Amino acid sequence: MKALVYEGPRNVKIKNVPDAKMEKPTDALVKITTTNICGSDLHMYEGRTNVEKGKILGHENLGEVIEVGKSVYRVKVGDLVCLPFNVSCGYCENCERGYTSACLEVNPGKAGGAYGYAGMGPYEGGQAEFLRVPFADFNCLVLPEEAEEKQNDYVMLADIWPTGYHATELAGVMPGESVVIYGAGPVGLFAAYSAIIKGASQVMVVDRLQDRLALARKIGATPIDDSESSPVDQVLELTDGKGADTGCECVGYQAHDVKGHEHPNMTLNNLVSSVRPTGRLGVVGVFPPEDPKSPDSLEKEGQIAFDIGNFFDKGLTMGSGQCNVKKYNRRLSKLIETGKAKPSFLVSHELGLDEAEDAYKHFDARENGWTKVVLKPAAAAKCERSRKAAAR
Ligand code: NAD
Ligand code: ZN
Repeated sequence: MKALVYEGPRNVKIKNVPDAKMEKPTDALVKITTTNICGSDLHMYEGRTNVEKGKILGHENLGEVIEVGKSVYRVKVGDLVCLPFNVSCGYCENCERGYTSACLEVNPGKAGGAYGYAGMGPYEGGQAEFLRVPFADFNCLVLPEEAEEKQNDYVMLADIWPTGYHATELAGVMPGESVVIYGAGPVGLFAAYSAIIKGASQVMVVDRLQDRLALARKIGATPIDDSESSPVDQVLELTDGKGADTGCECVGYQAHDVKGHEHPNMTLNNLVSSVRPTGRLGVVGVFPPEDPKSPDSLEKEGQIAFDIGNFFDKGLTMGSGQCNVKKYNRRLSKLIETGKAKPSFLVSHELGLDEAEDAYKHFDARENGWTKVVLKPAAAAKCERSRKAAAR
């Protein structure tokens, strides 16, 4: 099969590799019809992880089930499914409590697995023609019939929308509250979208990339351009000097100033200064336990100079970590199905798998107009069986 393979920093290639295949009776095999490039893939692309050469990337996957193991009962051949980026078992202590991002079964010695990602287990990614899906009955979200025509909406349920939503959950965003979001990448824009759906009264999104700020405005948020003046001052001005009720970090360890110099503590400290005393923070931007290639000496050890004094003095609360996609994807799916949400608003490029190498270059450069890339490894074949998702 064809797949996008990591070969080294800023070097990914479309290659012919052995077909993905069934390994266990609980697996399903999925023909990938839509798969996204994620901001998280760029950490690997830029050589800022320990991902091994030869890994197939891609953790935001949607496709058609073409084979199921003999222990798969719910999911059927012909189903169109969206796969959470987390690979999880469904029966370990953490999955049982809903924390599928910290599954204890799928990545021995660590908590949590994912497709095509550094340090997240042996699972290959879905920027390929086929994908092996472990624990298929637990992991597959079976999509309704209309999803065939709306794959660019439903594929956002694999990661990026639930992750933005997770940021607002960690921050405990309530109807009527104000929210400040650092980062207008896909995650930040989906945090804004989620906060608006939850009924936040004011949603402010900080970035400096004009196309992304324009999208923030389009969905009803207030864009804040930090290349014009201090984003903290702008938030305070918009909130009568009080600061926002809640805040979301959607940038992570590669946060940088407008000149491009990295400061891994920049967004977290700006957030602490941008929310009011007793405010709540949700941190979903990635901060790895070590980052040897960082220009910052603390960050090499996975540490940052955090404004703990300001944080404590204000009595802030902070939640962080990977999204437990399964906690939210079914409910968010209903918002698409009922026409209450259209997450494909983010998609700027719909390309074939063959165009993925080039797409990585543009998306990595955060080129104007490259807000989200969806790849189409295979045309969706009309399914033979009916897709009665509601029943399953
Ligand atoms: P992205 O790189 O496309 O977007 C990041 C945005 O942050 C860019 O638009 C950039 O201009 C902006 N930015 C950089 N420095 C900034 C600063 N100092 N102030 C304000 N904005 C700044 O990435 P994305 O896809 O939106 O992902 C964002 C982060 O979320 C990444 O770290 C990604 O790995 C992480 N992520 C986490 C999870 C999870 O489960 N927790 C899931 C998916 C992605
Ligand atoms: Zn992702």
